[in-house]
Amino acid sequence: MAPEQSISGPGRSPQPVIEHPSSQQPPFQGYPQRPSPVPGPAAPLPPRQQPSPIPAQQDTKRIIPTRPIDLIGRGSGVIQEIGGDDEMLLTSGADDAHERWLVGAIESLNGKKGVTTQDTLGLLLGVRLWLVVQIVEFSYGDTVRFVSPCPKKTCGHLNEKEVSLSRQVIPTRVDYPPEDEFCFATSTRKQIVYGFCNGFHEKALAAMENPSALYLQYMRVRKIDGIAVVPEIVKDTLNAQERMELRAELQRNPGGGINTAVTVLCSKCGTAYQTLLQEHLSFFLPGLQRG
Ligand SMILES: [Zn+2]
Repeated sequence: MAPEQSISGPGRSPQPVIEHPSSQQPPFQGYPQRPSPVPGPAAPLPPRQQPSPIPAQQDTKRIIPTRPIDLIGRGSGVIQEIGGDDEMLLTSGADDAHERWLVGAIESLNGKKGVTTQDTLGLLLGVRLWLVVQIVEFSYGDTVRFVSPCPKKTCGHLNEKEVSLSRQVIPTRVDYPPEDEFCFATSTRKQIVYGFCNGFHEKALAAMENPSALYLQYMRVRKIDGIAVVPEIVKDTLNAQERMELRAELQRNPGGGINTAVTVLCSKCGTAYQTLLQEHLSFFLPGLQRG
């Protein structure tokens, strides 16, 4: 287990305004007194301030709830209730808003405090999604509500949907196997080594102009006949039969995670369709009507 590090380590999401309960703070001494106004010409007096009636404990410190969780076969961590600043991030338009949101809700990962976006990006995709669902459930409760437009072009009806995370999503969890790499041989005796995708792969895919789901699959391939490969090489090196066998093998061993796909039945036209929880802003910001 990694040694504990400072919670204010580099790359930590900025402005964690709320003090952590374990941090030491001097007792509240009251608000500083304004100096007595000095009589003089033309200087307008500032309005006199009344002492705040709010108790000092609430005013300066709020205990942030935390919860230890396991990382579906990849160790353990401690999540914390999402903060107001982290919520603001989500509507800021910043490219890395969701990554910083995730960092903001993690107190430690496998004993390491001061988690950075490099740490969260290094997590496997299923672990990342597991963390997101756990953070939402811990911060806002079990019920997720969202509004989803019917995909049928002639309809477009806005369907309201309610999902229970503990009953419908969390039970779908599948742990990752302990191994990081797997080897298999095609019928043509090509030796292929593959693993699982992490947040860096997801980020690279998101930066592409027309990302293909196949690209994410081919990102899992690390070596063909002992030579390190990238997705372009994978698709150009293997023939159709070999690619078919590769896809079947990758699908057979998808790794861990949870299923956030929700089936919606349009209440106007009856069309059934699927949507992913994390595609809705209101999943991350409950209370919003749309998104
Ligand atoms: Zn419809």
